[in-house]
Amino acid sequence: MQERRCRIPQPIREDGAGATDPGPRDIMRDIENPDMLVPPATDAGLLPNLKFSFSDTSMVLKMGGWSREITARELPVATTLAGVNMRLTPGGVREVHWHIASEWSYMLSGSARITAVDQCGRNFIADIGPGDLWYFPPRFPHSLQGLKDGCEFLLLFDDGNFSDLNTLSLSDLFAHYPKDVLAANFCVPVDAFNYLPSGQVYIYQGTVPGPLEYEAVQSPYGLVPQSFKHRLLAQEPITTPGGSVRIADTSNFPVAKTTAAALVEIKPGAMREIHWHPNNDEFQYYIAGQGRMTVFAENGRARTFNYRAGDVGYVPVGYVHYVQNTGPETLWFLEAFKSDRFEGVSLNQMMAVTPPELIASNLHVGPKFLNALQDEELPVILCPWFS
Ligand code: MN
Ligand code: MN
Repeated sequence: MQERRCRIPQPIREDGAGATDPGPRDIMRDIENPDMLVPPATDAGLLPNLKFSFSDTSMVLKMGGWSREITARELPVATTLAGVNMRLTPGGVREVHWHIASEWSYMLSGSARITAVDQCGRNFIADIGPGDLWYFPPRFPHSLQGLKDGCEFLLLFDDGNFSDLNTLSLSDLFAHYPKDVLAANFCVPVDAFNYLPSGQVYIYQGTVPGPLEYEAVQSPYGLVPQSFKHRLLAQEPITTPGGSVRIADTSNFPVAKTTAAALVEIKPGAMREIHWHPNNDEFQYYIAGQGRMTVFAENGRARTFNYRAGDVGYVPVGYVHYVQNTGPETLWFLEAFKSDRFEGVSLNQMMAVTPPELIASNLHVGPKFLNALQDEELPVILCPWFS
């Protein structure tokens, strides 16, 4: 009995503040969120919710795959980007469609064939593997199809209120145009359209396509001028003692004008250093492991959250944060921004280039701390824009 009581966390801080929770309660969630059950004593004030799990979303199941999304409906603070987690079976198709928002994507596992056509009739057809990105500019028609092992990926749209269930799709178009108009447009008899789908198909089960070299269509207008694919994980990372980071923005993935991102690896015991972003809000997707983040805002407000694989985190522009690996495994996450550039301010770097006398008088710190600011071997992931 004593042993069991030890394993159940209680909302009691080390100094004795708080009290036991006799229930009702969700103990599994409390175990997953130790810094939310017992916030650090430094947490203060009111900050909005900055966490949502894909496990708590509305799941759409289709023959051929599934999808679920985290938009401003689920996480109201997330107005810049909306996220979709999708799986396609081998041969499963996300049908030809287009939408107002741009689409930035990261392949989590497996492989897919993507197709897209631009405003000049130039096309792009490519196979996407684990760790690869793709990007479709707004309103360009595109499709996705799972290859032999199927695939799972994350989509990001540059509008927090966008829903992937609210797009213009090929099946919906054919279902909602008079058949005589379709017949006139394509110069075929009306009975060519006897078996059209009755509405939006969204995802359907197809057959696994053959090799790209046989199935790619050559457009008479040529290829799109900028590649819609980028191999992020294959990119040489910036490495530090605590982990690594791979950044993709218009400097190396020029077509992705509305979304910049970094793939961050944090080893056990390490952390992504204290920093903030001057350009826009940060949308995070946790791929593996577990961590915690404290977000600091105006008027001494601070709130600490725990995250794990499958969670989305969010940080409003300018708000300070770190991400600490709290688990035994390597933590991997994506940080993404509605921006053409990845930008950030490192607290360490900022303080290292500020007169030390000013820092000392401001914070009442001594030479030991001031010397540490100049130490290049800090166990953190240093901000790469300074390297
Ligand atoms: Mn799309
Ligand atoms: Mn950040």
